[in-house]
Amino acid sequence: MNPSIVKHILLPLHERFVGRATFDRWRELERTQWWSRERLRELQLRKLRLLLHHAWAHVPFHRRRLAELGLNPRCVTSLDVLRDLPLMTKQDIRAHRRSLRWPGVPGGLCRYNTGGSTGEPLIFEYDLGRQAYDQAARMRTHRWFGADVGDKEVYLWGSPVELSRQDRLKTFRDRLTNQLLLSAFEMSGQRMDDYIDRIERYDPVSLFGYPSSLALLSRHTMSRGRRPRLGRLGVVFVTGELLYDHQRERIEEAFGVPVANGYGSREGGFIAHECPRGSMHVTSENVILEIVDEAGAAVPAGRTGQIVVTHLDTYGMPFIRYCTGDAGRLADGVCECGRGLELMDVIEGRQTDLVVAADGTVKHALSLIYVLREVEAVRQFQIVQGLDRHLDVHVVSTGELSSEDRSRIEQGLRTRMGPGIDVRIRSTEHIETAASGKYRYVISHARMPEA
Ligand SMILES: [Zn+2]
Repeated sequence: MNPSIVKHILLPLHERFVGRATFDRWRELERTQWWSRERLRELQLRKLRLLLHHAWAHVPFHRRRLAELGLNPRCVTSLDVLRDLPLMTKQDIRAHRRSLRWPGVPGGLCRYNTGGSTGEPLIFEYDLGRQAYDQAARMRTHRWFGADVGDKEVYLWGSPVELSRQDRLKTFRDRLTNQLLLSAFEMSGQRMDDYIDRIERYDPVSLFGYPSSLALLSRHTMSRGRRPRLGRLGVVFVTGELLYDHQRERIEEAFGVPVANGYGSREGGFIAHECPRGSMHVTSENVILEIVDEAGAAVPAGRTGQIVVTHLDTYGMPFIRYCTGDAGRLADGVCECGRGLELMDVIEGRQTDLVVAADGTVKHALSLIYVLREVEAVRQFQIVQGLDRHLDVHVVSTGELSSEDRSRIEQGLRTRMGPGIDVRIRSTEHIETAASGKYRYVISHARMPEA
């Protein structure tokens, strides 16, 4: 489909049909990204006041919390007021879903179940207004890299094996809006060869997917000595899980274009995205981002802690000081690109990607990943840490794993984890992705020690 028709006719029609003001929001965000930080803070304060007032009037869970603090939303004069409010956890959503909703939200509520990559499903609801903002933020960041609204894009994403009627409709809609979906659930060698063929035929402007899936595809492509012929491709967007440097390098090498990292979640929204200068910009118009320490107190820029978000445009089920479970830090200064949007320096790793060493130290999984990466015969792997802290290492290898390789892995992991940690290596043909389609290098079931 002609991209201009998609941009000016089909997509706007589609968004209007489903009741989302996405294009109005997008035009708004195109303007506000150039505002100064002070002006953006004023916007945040205005939106926060409205949100708290709404939560007070319509959402029992939040009204209770505000009442306990004796906080009158009309009298909010500073963003610092957030610091007085308690944090909102995934457990709160599980326990109080009904009293967190505003059933009267225009357009109604959509129910969403974030899949089982953590083993424990989380059901929450969102509204069209918030969806429009998140979608608009996505459109804006795509344009930062020359991928305009309506341009062809290939998604390597979780998708069901069996296509239901609804999925066929979605496929038809995707075709009309210049999107091609490939399943990140099935990534066998043969399937990946087929994917590259299809991507070449489709000739997209951008690719989009999980870093792990795209890195896997890149590695496979390069091992075949293949260089995809993609004349229009300008960027690869990754999101959904932590992006490791080695993944970025591999993807950039295989596709010959820059990788742009996005950070967000279904519950938290479109939180931040990298710009062409390499800074991670917060979607400051829609999200107030705080970094907190173990005690829940906000920490200054530069210090690492848990990422906590308040989504300013979510009225159906307001997320106020929501604990994402991810770690990161805010950065000082402004970006050379000229956008006033706040900066977050690095996302240091999901809490699910941390392991517990013999002496109780919590370690970033990257240290274990390096051990496996150094062994050439290892094609794919997954480390599962049990409750008693032992490690099960599932390895897909090129040929049989030699005893030398095995002892290298065992020794390397023991050195990093400390004495007494049992390491079991298991050769396998295939490693399952989680139900959500995300692939995780390291999964830990060990209890994190109290800070
Ligand atoms: Zn920038």
